[in-house]
Amino acid sequence: MPADDCPPPGIALPWADGTFPPVHAAQRATVYDALMGMALHEASHALASDDVPVGALVVSPQGTLLGVGRNRREEGGDPTAHAEILAIRQAARTLGTWRLEGCTLVVTLEPCAMCAGAIVLARVARLVLGAWDPKAGATGSMWDVVRDRRSTHRVEVVGGVRQDECGTLIRDFFETQRGPA
Ligand SMILES: [Zn+2]
Repeated sequence: MPADDCPPPGIALPWADGTFPPVHAAQRATVYDALMGMALHEASHALASDDVPVGALVVSPQGTLLGVGRNRREEGGDPTAHAEILAIRQAARTLGTWRLEGCTLVVTLEPCAMCAGAIVLARVARLVLGAWDPKAGATGSMWDVVRDRRSTHRVEVVGGVRQDECGTLIRDFFETQRGPA
């Protein structure tokens, strides 16, 4: 059986038609919005453990879902348990390789320096992010680890997808943490 007849690994998504992301800009925007909705949903689960609500997922070049993650730093007492790291690890397990070539990582908040490094190491092709993080973001704000000219692997960055919703989720979380004024 030719390899082309094998279904691609991961979970098929409704809009997957063999290529990802869609070629047409309008269709691409619609799909990014839908994926960010899934990442937002995943982020909301972090609230149960008082974790900063950040959600991430990895999509294959065929448009299948390879991995999902949310921030579990408090839940696991693990400083490295960021949404992106957990989504990347699950995607690598799904594919059976650490190389996530051609893959897209979708995340509700601009990645930190650790996660930006992991995105480069995993050879992720594209980063779709929700809210920018001017204080600690490492993919365009404070630093730009994923598009550094000195690096041999660079990542396409699509920013500001559903950024109001992504930003509000985080702001509401910190306001609740501080308690009523
Ligand atoms: Zn991070």
